[in-house]
Amino acid sequence: MAQAQANIGVIGMAVMGSNLARNLASREGNTVAIYNRSAEKTRAVVSEFPEAGFVASESIEEFAASLVKPRTAIIMVKAGAGTDAVINQLTTVFEPGDIIVDGGNALFTDTIRREKAVRETGINFVGAGISGGEEGALKGPSIMPGGSAEAWETLGPILKSIAAVAEGEPCVTHVGTDGAGHFVKMIHNGIEYADMQLIAEAYDLIRRGTGKSPAEIADIFTEWNKGELESYLIEITAEVLRQVDAKTGQPLVDVIVDQAGAKGTGAWTVQTALDLGIPVSGIAEAVFARSLSSKPAQRAAASSLPGPSSEWTVDDADAFVEDVRQALYASKIIAYSQGFDEIVAGAEEYNWDIKKGDIAKIWRGGCIIRAQFLNRITEAYDENPGLVALVTAPYFTDAVSQAQDAWRRVVVAAAQAGIPSPAFSSSLSYYDGLRADRLPAALVQGQRDFFGAHTYRRVDAEGTFHTLWSGDRSEIEATDTH
Ligand code: NAP
Repeated sequence: MAQAQANIGVIGMAVMGSNLARNLASREGNTVAIYNRSAEKTRAVVSEFPEAGFVASESIEEFAASLVKPRTAIIMVKAGAGTDAVINQLTTVFEPGDIIVDGGNALFTDTIRREKAVRETGINFVGAGISGGEEGALKGPSIMPGGSAEAWETLGPILKSIAAVAEGEPCVTHVGTDGAGHFVKMIHNGIEYADMQLIAEAYDLIRRGTGKSPAEIADIFTEWNKGELESYLIEITAEVLRQVDAKTGQPLVDVIVDQAGAKGTGAWTVQTALDLGIPVSGIAEAVFARSLSSKPAQRAAASSLPGPSSEWTVDDADAFVEDVRQALYASKIIAYSQGFDEIVAGAEEYNWDIKKGDIAKIWRGGCIIRAQFLNRITEAYDENPGLVALVTAPYFTDAVSQAQDAWRRVVVAAAQAGIPSPAFSSSLSYYDGLRADRLPAALVQGQRDFFGAHTYRRVDAEGTFHTLWSGDRSEIEATDTH
């Protein structure tokens, strides 16, 4: 049996787990135990990275014995059944006070379930969202741990040592109890979907509107990256657009099949938002845009449907590019505002004390949506922790007010040109819906009352009312709702 010598362990030696283990091993004071279901993967990692000084095990018992008590193990295996299998193994060899961390992409409701079950054994369970892909895992990810405050006390310093650093601060914070960390990671991914779709729409509009080449558009994105849009996603977009395919000499973007894949976290964000009643329309449109792209039979069948009868031209290319930049910024603000609304609603529903400003802070480095802009979100919540919608914070209101004329011109142009802009246009509709004095929801309530006696409230009186639609159409006060 191995001697207890490691202060932290990692289970799962695929790309994420091995990189995270190497990251841990590179930090002062850590000795890292590793284990993987198939022992050959463990052996390969040990021989490839001798400098890490891994303490390798080929059984879960040996792995547990190699850890100093209280034991801490981070699971980085295939989310779902794989995670459950490893948790079941660990609970047989770990003891009360030990800590199991699930760093995989778990659905937050699974994390709530697992935390409850593991807690009954006296073992701590922490669901931690980890963002940044394989490079982040190796060099410093953004980490979103849930779980108990007690577990955070032990785990916090270790996670702080391996997290990305933004403006001198580690990109990790205790998000809240049980599933809070995975919930916030899910929202991060939902926002990431929206951000990517918005950037893609901006590219498409500029390309089709001005005829600029991908390389020229790459230069535009590089320029944008120096201003308020500065972000990792804008930066990598320029890199992708600049890439030339070695086989054909074409821009790579032109030889990639235009069907976007998805691993499901965007869909989870939208499904959860539907349950919570939160309109995350920008994120939803981004998820649906990927679904639409991946329906070749339907797209082929519809490809001869007519587009606009008049031709669309851009008179001033520079002015159009600037309009698109502003539309992108305004739509991005809406996407983040919607994502944070969902965090607020989730925190209320599941009793999590989530500090919104701190979430924006830990997304400034390491993760896919990292951006300067997140500082403005932290400031907005620091100024007003009870902010009801991010877009109503003074900085964002000003930004959207300045951008809105350009935003409207772009959405109009897209519609006239027949260029799909689901995220741009739904964000604008959301903005107009939010700021409207009166919405046609009043008519919807009338319709609901007509066919289902669902009742309505009046603008000028307390109470609930129903019109006797199939009677004399007089109004009565209703006591119960249907
Ligand atoms: P992965 O392909 O998702 O999973 C492979 C790993 O899971 C292998 O170590 C495999 O062991 C293990 N595994 C699968 N089923 C198992 C079971 N029933 N029992 C025990 N072990 C099992 O690996 P990954 O891409 O490194 O991702 C790991 C986790 O990080 C996932 O939850 C993923 O969603 C999350 N994540 C990934 C990224 C990313 O960019 N890739 C980013 C953030 C988070 P064997 O070698 O024995 O098959």
